[in-house]
Amino acid sequence: MARLQLKNLHAKVAEGGEKILDGVDLEVSSGEIHALMGPNGSGKSTTAKVIAGHPAYEVTEGEVLVHLDEDEFEGMTIPEEKRIWNLLDLEPNERAAVGVFLGFQYPVEIEGVTMVNFLRTALNAKLEERDDLFEEGEEAETEEEAEDSGYDTSPMEGNADEGDVGVAEFQELMAEKMDQLDMDTTFAQRYLNAGFSGGEKKQNEVLQAAILEPSIAVLDEIDSGLDIDRLQDVSKGINALRDEQGAGILQITHYQRILDYVEPDHVHVMLDGKIATSGGPELAERLENEGYDWVREEAYETA
Ligand code: ADP
Ligand code: MG
Ligand code: MG
Repeated sequence: MARLQLKNLHAKVAEGGEKILDGVDLEVSSGEIHALMGPNGSGKSTTAKVIAGHPAYEVTEGEVLVHLDEDEFEGMTIPEEKRIWNLLDLEPNERAAVGVFLGFQYPVEIEGVTMVNFLRTALNAKLEERDDLFEEGEEAETEEEAEDSGYDTSPMEGNADEGDVGVAEFQELMAEKMDQLDMDTTFAQRYLNAGFSGGEKKQNEVLQAAILEPSIAVLDEIDSGLDIDRLQDVSKGINALRDEQGAGILQITHYQRILDYVEPDHVHVMLDGKIATSGGPELAERLENEGYDWVREEAYETA
């Protein structure tokens, strides 16, 4: 089991900008679905971006930790001194390697790279990085090696490492995941980001998560702009991440609608950069019926 732990997280816009996160405490464990809700501008996306290491923000206080079990990753025993990671110290690739999925990350447009090649490269990069990080007695990598560890998005021919997931094996994996998401099979051969609709981008994000098999996935507004059919497909994919892969999900959303399909175990309401209240699924229902005003009133009554 893995646990993502935000501890008293404070962050501001980098280079003297305004303060946005004001002490966020939040824990998400494998197998749990958490909904992070809240009015527009409350700091939800900033929370996701800070976890992802977005350079627009500066953490001024607090921590983001990942706790791993000894047997978190198949085929590997994690030594005791490598079971707690400070996510904020890690490169994006390393965050994936310790089991955290932080949204669909790829350059805006890369000529001539198909989805299937891109995703296979991402999976192999994660597995390689994981071997590097968890190898016992491993020395810290050099700057040069760190630079090399970015996703290699070149086509895979002649680029296979030992231990890589091979082309045939990967095609099978991808077909299975795409079937789970009711995605069209031609999708695998489409070029990265070439003319994807908003809904397709969201579906891609869930597909990438399904393939990378994270311990914890952070999904920001995966429901925005989806029609009902696509919302149901995407929801099915998110539920599969939890039910079939045992992932923990931090589902960030402004709207209650997706929670009809992805039922959260825990609901948190963010207000002015911190968690104002938490509860079970009934909290989402109350927000649906009564909006956010009562949360604000209660939060400032007791403050
Ligand atoms: P939410 O996702 O809950 O709608 P955000 O985290 O996107 O909220 O934004 C929280 C607040 O921080 C908003 O007032 C927003 O305008 C501000 N903010 C976020 N990012 C930046 C930025 N890079 N520069 C300036 N202000 C920002
Ligand atoms: Mg917003
Ligand atoms: Mg947002």
